[in-house]
Amino acid sequence: MKNPDRSLKKGCNIGGVVKASLCTGCGTCEGVCPTGAISLRRDKDIFRPVVDGAKCNASKGCRVCYTVCPGHQLDITRLSTALFPEAETDPKIGRYQSVFHGNAVDSPIRFHAASGGVTTQIVVKLLRQNKIDAAVVIRLGSASCTEPEVVLAYTPEEVVQAQSSKYCPVALGGVIRDILDKKLRVAVVGLPCHIHGFRKAEETFPALKDAVQLYIGIYCSALQSFQGTEYIFRRFQIPRKGMVSFSYRDEGCPGSLKASYEDGRTIKVPYHDYYRKLKSFFIPYRCMQCVDHFAELADISTGDLNIPPYNEDKVGFSSLIVRSSRGRVVIEALMQSGGLELHALEAEPLIRSQQFSLNRKKRQIKVRYDLLRLVGRKTCNYDYAFPKSGLKAYAKSVLASIIIYAEMFVGKRPRLWPLIDFTNSVLKKSKSGNS
Ligand SMILES: Cc1cc2nc3c(=O)[nH]c(=O)nc-3n(C[C@H](O)[C@H](O)[C@H](O)COP(=O)(O)OP(=O)(O)OC[C@H]3O[C@@H](n4cnc5c(N)ncnc54)[C@H](O)[C@@H]3O)c2cc1C
Repeated sequence: MKNPDRSLKKGCNIGGVVKASLCTGCGTCEGVCPTGAISLRRDKDIFRPVVDGAKCNASKGCRVCYTVCPGHQLDITRLSTALFPEAETDPKIGRYQSVFHGNAVDSPIRFHAASGGVTTQIVVKLLRQNKIDAAVVIRLGSASCTEPEVVLAYTPEEVVQAQSSKYCPVALGGVIRDILDKKLRVAVVGLPCHIHGFRKAEETFPALKDAVQLYIGIYCSALQSFQGTEYIFRRFQIPRKGMVSFSYRDEGCPGSLKASYEDGRTIKVPYHDYYRKLKSFFIPYRCMQCVDHFAELADISTGDLNIPPYNEDKVGFSSLIVRSSRGRVVIEALMQSGGLELHALEAEPLIRSQQFSLNRKKRQIKVRYDLLRLVGRKTCNYDYAFPKSGLKAYAKSVLASIIIYAEMFVGKRPRLWPLIDFTNSVLKKSKSGNS
């Protein structure tokens, strides 16, 4: 077991990271703890690690959980340069070889996916070709149909069951222990923060690097806390009682939230009708320090392409970034075998389609770090050169950041949720007045 970070003091655990509100809730610490001292607790907003002091070996010098934690420190530039030496760098996309748009050819996979089903199609193909033993995916649970559950999917059917986006916290990293214990070859599908954790863990556990055959990272503007789902349920009167299945996005693209009930009823809410109302109200605190929108440490990154003419097709469409050579081999094989219908795409429309999130994660990020440091808050230590901005842009970003933090304050307090409806109705009126 190697320790790449020699600057760390001997013997510390992730307790301090949680205390400083730098935990992303990715779960990597749980998956690497040698004594099983860490478990993830579902809080009101996100999953947080809890350390069992009786089992923790920090006092004996162990600091594995702290070393792999991407919440307090991440060498995103060093890692992406080392991982993708043959790629070129774009300040917004990260290091990449090529960009595509398109969809899975399989109609049900495409129709029930969040976007165009390319993620599920890639994983299904790897399983069918026996290139992997299992895939790490998220399904909405067996115990409750709204709770996220990390699964090692061994069959294409299990991968398909886990399709579509879960706009709620997911602690993926706990599965690392299983992958290593069972000596599996896997593909991992996850958000940027999940992949940060895995990549850091690979540096300490070389066997993990051998085990993971492919990382598919999904673009992420930000997580939505569990309270985000509660708000949607209240706002759109979606009862939990009698619910037998739930999806945040189904039936086309962008699709609809769909809740089905034991008496045969179904409630559907178009994706844009509910997702746009969430604004920044339910973004977990640590997400506002994240600099990675496009999953810059994944072999392949996937997301929507929600601009004309690409979004005119309502069945399903994706954008896809290939970063590594092993990613390129997988994509080329799938295009040749007819599993994916992909077309080359310039970087410009991809960036334009994600401009809002990129502004937040790249352009406004320095301001947020300055503000947080000004009020004495701890921040994540990235080896990333924050883009500089002129005075006017800086002032605009200060205002935008204050609004975001004010919204996050409201979202955490259910008694203030009427303010969300009020804000949305004022914005709707001012928009219709302008048009
Ligand atoms: C929180 C969140 C924020 C996002 N923000 C953006 C954005 O700003 N812009 C954009 O273009 N796209 C965003 N996406 C990605 C988009 O919604 C689709 O997930 C992505 O395009 C993949 O679609 P697909 O049709 O290829 O995948 P599908 O075939 O539908 O498969 C989706 C895969 O993602 C996995 N997955 C779903 N939710 C999670 C989760 N929360 N954590 C880890 N794995 C998960 C599933 O297990 C499944 O394997 C976001 C997704 C999430 C979950």
